[in-house]
Amino acid sequence: MDLTFTEAETAFRDELRGWLAENRPGETPEGEDAAYQWRRDFQRRLADGGWAAVHWPVEYGGRGATLTQSAVFFEELARAGAPLPANVLGLMLAGPTIMIWGTPEQKDRYLAPIVTAEEIWCQGFSEPEAGSDLAALKTRAVKHGGEWVVTGQKVWTSGAQYSKWCMLVARTDTEVPKHKGLTYFLLDMEQDAVQVRPLRQITGEAEFNELFIEEARIPEENVLGGVGNGWKVALTTLMNERAGLAFFLQVRLRQLLDRLLAQAAERGQLDDPVIADRLGELHLKAEVLRLTAYRGLTQIERYGQPGPEGSLTKWMWSETNQQLAQLAADLIGPQALAAGTPWSYELLRSRGNTIEGGTTEILKNIVAERVLGLPKAR
Ligand SMILES: Cc1cc2nc3c(=O)[nH]c(=O)nc-3n(C[C@H](O)[C@H](O)[C@H](O)COP(=O)(O)OP(=O)(O)OC[C@H]3O[C@@H](n4cnc5c(N)ncnc54)[C@H](O)[C@@H]3O)c2cc1C
Repeated sequence: MDLTFTEAETAFRDELRGWLAENRPGETPEGEDAAYQWRRDFQRRLADGGWAAVHWPVEYGGRGATLTQSAVFFEELARAGAPLPANVLGLMLAGPTIMIWGTPEQKDRYLAPIVTAEEIWCQGFSEPEAGSDLAALKTRAVKHGGEWVVTGQKVWTSGAQYSKWCMLVARTDTEVPKHKGLTYFLLDMEQDAVQVRPLRQITGEAEFNELFIEEARIPEENVLGGVGNGWKVALTTLMNERAGLAFFLQVRLRQLLDRLLAQAAERGQLDDPVIADRLGELHLKAEVLRLTAYRGLTQIERYGQPGPEGSLTKWMWSETNQQLAQLAADLIGPQALAAGTPWSYELLRSRGNTIEGGTTEILKNIVAERVLGLPKAR
């Protein structure tokens, strides 16, 4: 692993830093809808400056950035206090999946409005009885003439309330083994047959939703990657989910830790050896996380495919972030628990970290089976 940037990487970072200095995102406005609109506006500015989709090929409106440049992009974004682009699921998941599996017509139709945040995307995978075991999903799609008719329920669908399109995986064949009977669809959310109901979280926000789908229509040309091939297409989406965000998350973690360190210093708590020990451990974990994220990059650059580091960094980040929020509550005391304070938000929001994007138990299974070569649990 070589952590020295090349000249091109340093130039890329400096150009981006200059752009971010001139285009400061400002403070997050109050209220969920206002905050979302702010993220959407910021993505439009990124798109105008040619920065919204740096990791996409130039032919699709990206910059054709290398993996390291893409990592630098997310680090700098977090460092500047900028939000993740509003259409993060479109940019990180839907776009790359369409690039791999889409027809030329699908690429023409869907990619450009993702970059400009004109059309927002959500991910309709999880169901009430299918989360970790995604292939158990029951949402059914049946062909009628030239279109598919879909009925079922999805849950935890982040950003569905703002979305025009949904990456929907549904069962098209019940006669074959469960992984083989799935198809990946591009579902237009703007129809009465799709009802979006917000789910309020412990933070008070409603980031995600239930989707009730009652005979929704999907034209034949909105199948992605072929009928019955949905499992493979969904895996492309999931690989991108774990690969991209590690750099943004590790910088955010570092920033939170620095904020906690400063607050502990102000309160004269650094002389307490137990507190110093707990802060030191978090510092170490934040560094290990950063280096593991870079090791993952080296792995992809060298071997052309992601190694187990994606699962490792997600697992390490989520547990470290929870420990950090807990330590903040211990140090700051009851004030950290008062509703609406930044630390109360971190404490409550971090509970979901070990579930979203793959639970820690599932990530541990991946590491056990694919890295350590241990026997399969089932
Ligand atoms: C903030 C947030 C946002 C989300 N956004 C989206 C979204 O936009 N789109 C979407 O489709 N989904 C989304 N999800 C859903 C998420 O992907 C699922 O919650 C996750 O995959 C787990 O599925 P589940 O909730 O059904 O739990 P289950 O799979 O039912 O798991 C329950 C428990 O059993 C454990 N478990 C399950 N199987 C095994 C096993 N084989 N070995 C060991 N332990 C096991 C799990 O680790 C967990 O502790 C989101 C979740 C959160 C928290």
